[in-house]
Amino acid sequence: MHQFSLARLAAGLAAGEFSSRELTAHFLDRIERHDPRLNAFVTVTRDAALAQAGAADARLRAGEAGPLTGIPLAHKDIFCTEGVRTSCASRMLDGFTAPYDATVVERLKAAGMVMLGKTNMDEFAMGSSSETSWYGPVKNPWDPARVPGGSSGGSAAAVAARLAPAATGTDTGGSIRQPAALCGLSGLKPTYGRVSRWGMIAFASSLDQGGPMARSAEDLALLLPAMAGFDERDSTSSPEPVPDYPAQLDEDVKGLRVGLPREWFREGLDAGVAASIEEARRVLEGLGVVFRDIDLPNSALAVPAYYVVAPAECSSNLARYDGVRYGYRCEAPRDLEDLYRRSRSEAFGAEVKRRIMMGTYVLSAGYYDAYYLKAQKIRRLIADDFRAAFAEVDLILGPTSPTRAFRLGEKTADPVTMYLSDIYTIAVNLAGLPGLTVPAPMAGGLPVGLQLVGDYFQEGRLLNLAHRLQRTTDWHLATPPGFD
Ligand code: GLN
Repeated sequence: MHQFSLARLAAGLAAGEFSSRELTAHFLDRIERHDPRLNAFVTVTRDAALAQAGAADARLRAGEAGPLTGIPLAHKDIFCTEGVRTSCASRMLDGFTAPYDATVVERLKAAGMVMLGKTNMDEFAMGSSSETSWYGPVKNPWDPARVPGGSSGGSAAAVAARLAPAATGTDTGGSIRQPAALCGLSGLKPTYGRVSRWGMIAFASSLDQGGPMARSAEDLALLLPAMAGFDERDSTSSPEPVPDYPAQLDEDVKGLRVGLPREWFREGLDAGVAASIEEARRVLEGLGVVFRDIDLPNSALAVPAYYVVAPAECSSNLARYDGVRYGYRCEAPRDLEDLYRRSRSEAFGAEVKRRIMMGTYVLSAGYYDAYYLKAQKIRRLIADDFRAAFAEVDLILGPTSPTRAFRLGEKTADPVTMYLSDIYTIAVNLAGLPGLTVPAPMAGGLPVGLQLVGDYFQEGRLLNLAHRLQRTTDWHLATPPGFD
């Protein structure tokens, strides 16, 4: 059952081949057996999951089920879940139980999906390796000596190891796409505003976007309609109607124009990754896709601009953790100043502190114009690059990440090397565009991610091309050894 696609699970549930309780128990047992090696879960909600599954079975019997009713999933621990610890993998929120559900959680619950638990991640979603978690690092199921990517590394490891059929993630600079790539999954970062951010713990609000992680584009297309759409509680959520993504999956891709940004295939790109992307490109060419080289001239500025904008927003968003209202509070504070200082010093990890300091610096009166304002101008240039590209092509194709999964500890001493993991994903967030990753052929026993980027609200087109690729190849079906 753990190898079934979401559509196959739905069919099995509808036909009474298995119940949601049986299915849920099966995944809970797999988590119990395999997760100690991976550390993908921060919290497992066994009793609540079985109760939700029982309710889903009643809906199925009453003929009131939707396409996702009774199917289990895991939520990244950045989404608030009513009555369940929501930690963001930080000591700061280790004891925090959310009083309400995030919109994404609420909608998937209403669709009848069953929450198995909450997944591990980089602290406050700051990282590319899931090593900064207060609960310890997540391991990659393909090789437990390697990282699963981050920040949604727990979600990626859980789905890759078949401990959950699907999971939610969030992507501020690559955190859905890069871990999905490093674990051999399909993952979608929707257009900014497509999915409500309400109840999703804020990192950099102008970049943060939630989305689905699963094993195929078809699975993503089933999940997205249940997550997306206007939400009056998030003023940046879009009123754009949510299309029928599954209906678009099989459209013909003949004649589709796809651009290859020259800047994404230069130095810094691992040779194994490049060869794998080229193999996937040739398959797409065989389907009638027309490729041409394009330029995104400001690509090199994306990472530097992001590391001004994202820390600036994070320093502001994380000011709320003051030891007073909720979250960690230090022992026996001497006075208010001591309470703030020690609560934040003791509960935030090194990377979070580094970002808060950078952000506070770039926003300070004397440096605002030189850094923050400049970065915002670069952000506009990057969006303009994409606008010009989409006047010539329908979609953009490239690698998701410059390397395959790296070893635990390999990049922790050098933050800048770690930041470069997102060199191909970050510009997409700065521009607010949708980006999708799907597995390309494996290289040296490790997964490689192929990235597709579309114009605003073109998620359907991304899923369509990815699905056509997955109909003719089996790269997305590979299972990590020991988890099949
Ligand atoms: N790795 C990037 C960072 O550390 C992006 C993280 C994310 O998308 N949440 O900020």
